[in-house]
Amino acid sequence: MDKIIYLDNAATTKVSKPALDAMLPFLSERYGNPSSIYSVGRDAKKAIEGARTTVSNLIGALSEEIFFTGSGTESNNWAIKSASEMLSDKGRHIITSAIEHPAVLETLAYLETKGYEVSYLGVDKYGQISIDELKNTIREDTIIISIMTANNEIGTILPVSEIGKLAREKGILFHTDAVQAVGSIAIDVAEMNVDLLTFSGHKLGAAKGVGVLYIKKELKLPPFIHGGGQENGKRSGTENVAGIAGLAAALEYRTSKLPLEGLAKKRDRLIKQLLNIPKSSLTGDPKNRLPGIASFVFEAIEGESMLLLLDHFGICGSSGSACSSGSLDPSHVLLAIGLPHEIAHGSLRLSLSEETTDEEIDFVIEKLTEIVAKLRAMSPVWNEPSNIAP
Ligand code: PLP
Repeated sequence: MDKIIYLDNAATTKVSKPALDAMLPFLSERYGNPSSIYSVGRDAKKAIEGARTTVSNLIGALSEEIFFTGSGTESNNWAIKSASEMLSDKGRHIITSAIEHPAVLETLAYLETKGYEVSYLGVDKYGQISIDELKNTIREDTIIISIMTANNEIGTILPVSEIGKLAREKGILFHTDAVQAVGSIAIDVAEMNVDLLTFSGHKLGAAKGVGVLYIKKELKLPPFIHGGGQENGKRSGTENVAGIAGLAAALEYRTSKLPLEGLAKKRDRLIKQLLNIPKSSLTGDPKNRLPGIASFVFEAIEGESMLLLLDHFGICGSSGSACSSGSLDPSHVLLAIGLPHEIAHGSLRLSLSEETTDEEIDFVIEKLTEIVAKLRAMSPVWNEPSNIAP
């Protein structure tokens, strides 16, 4: 394969060297089942418990509060479904935001079919919820607030500590999907006032197929996957030992590099230069945003066409205009921040990593500027008066 300029780190990341080194022994000579009592089994068990301690220390949790799962999606499903089941006698009202990942939104849509009522908080043009609206939405029967720490499409970082504080005052359980945040910004579960926090290995330099659910000690969350009693009886299934060991190593490595100021500088340079393209806008919060995510809309352009032409130059990015089902509906996140359909179709997310070089950024700026001009030259709607959001 020719050289790739990988700017889709919010979709998934390369396994980092420390993670790979931590994983390899458990895929070869140290292959024991952690539930076995002989030494290779005990060795695997020890690795899992070591990883649990490492992860807990890195997010300010206790080791018994860390549960390994198969993905961020699973952690979100577990958190929301089991918490709603546990609290159903108290109430059946759940609050979330309009910009959550489908792993939260679809879980809640499922719960709606089971008699739960869900309120979806709107967001402003930067993707921020209003704390006042949240306060006004809370009811006697509200049992869960689930609001993400940072958005995957537009990079906005939400005021999670404040939300958590309010939830705690009102005695409402607070879950946050921190899949995009963990490893990119500092995370401290106590400071965030969370009861449940989700994250995923493959977004932070570990392998695919391993996630974490932090469960506050006092919370007796019922198990989600039943079976042989692994993960302290809460999440059965033979553990992904290599994945877990890799996740801990990856998180340790990423955390040691925080805050990612160099990365944020590169992101800002990319944003500044791309905004020189006429009728282009940044999406998401200009200040409170993840250090690696640059996201845009370009007027009179189809995101998919941009991606295909970028791919021609080995540049990998993503667009919110087509969801995973292949439908051409614009992204729910871009609609929620108030963009009209036709503008939301021209979205592009470039998510950088620490390995992204200045040369790569220059190349992307040059090529994307050409691509946008080329697509507009062919577009029947270009030249129309602008209706882009301010
Ligand atoms: N939540 C957010 C915010 C995400 O960005 C993603 C992945 O894109 C997920 C959840 C799902 O994580 P996983 O791919 O580990 O299932």
